[in-house]
Amino acid sequence: MTSQVTFIGAGNMASAIFGGMIEGGYPAEAITATARGAQTLDALASRYGVHTTSDNNAAVENADVVVLAVKPQAMREVCHELRDSVQRQRPLIVSVAAGLSAETLDTWLGGNMAVIRCMPNTPSLVGQGASGLYANARVSEEHKQLATSLLETVGLVEWVADETLLEAVTAVSGSGPAYFFLIMEALEDAGKKLGLPADSARRLALQTAYGAASMARESEFEPAELRRRVTSPNGTTERAINSFEDDGLRQLFENATQACATRARELA
Ligand code: NAD
Repeated sequence: MTSQVTFIGAGNMASAIFGGMIEGGYPAEAITATARGAQTLDALASRYGVHTTSDNNAAVENADVVVLAVKPQAMREVCHELRDSVQRQRPLIVSVAAGLSAETLDTWLGGNMAVIRCMPNTPSLVGQGASGLYANARVSEEHKQLATSLLETVGLVEWVADETLLEAVTAVSGSGPAYFFLIMEALEDAGKKLGLPADSARRLALQTAYGAASMARESEFEPAELRRRVTSPNGTTERAINSFEDDGLRQLFENATQACATRARELA
């Protein structure tokens, strides 16, 4: 039987997920979304055909899965508001909020809930996300399969066994899109310094990032091997790669991801 899925806080992340589910064939009539503004709700109903309401408690009645997708600072109030309904209904809880532990959410919801924490990233908005998931002890194998199938509609799903590893997920994929945007920016600027017109430099940098990512995903070889294969001895690419290595590119990534994980810990 199709699970009834309710999204509390139908903003960017929630609509990316249910948009992906619907595109993947999930029935829109099994999805309910809540938000604050009537205009937002009308737009969601006409665009996706999902049920909408501004009444969070009504949305949870009959829900098998409740996805909490409000901003972290609004979460405590929303959980308290939902406490009685979720204690009665006992749905699987999936939170996409950054920095709030499964235990905190469980406490705010009155305790003994099956809680999955998900760290998605923004490419989910174009169906190319990467999400790290952690389940507390009350989550069953069946629940995990259900969460995997829902989130796979917007990209890759990776489970972590230890909740603290979500900080590493944040450092690699949660914040990762921004690192690649920065690299695209830097490559574009470098191209301009070498004399390319600005729009050509941008197009070449973006297409190269996209092409390299597609190739790395589709290839039977790992990225290090693909790199070796395009690096002829004493050729142009080798000069560039040696320059990156000499300037400590790998250390820069290690430092940046450590800083990111530390910040994720501070915010928790
Ligand atoms: P958003 O502002 O687009 O969406 C939040 C939605 O919640 C809005 O539609 C708002 O109307 C609604 N809302 C606010 N208070 C509400 C309430 N009391 N009841 C019902 N609805 C309410 O935010 P977003 O970017 O989609 O982020 C949502 C969550 O996703 C956050 O917790 C964030 O940490 C997490 N997240 C987002 C991203 C991202 O890339 N956007 C990545 C990782 C995690």
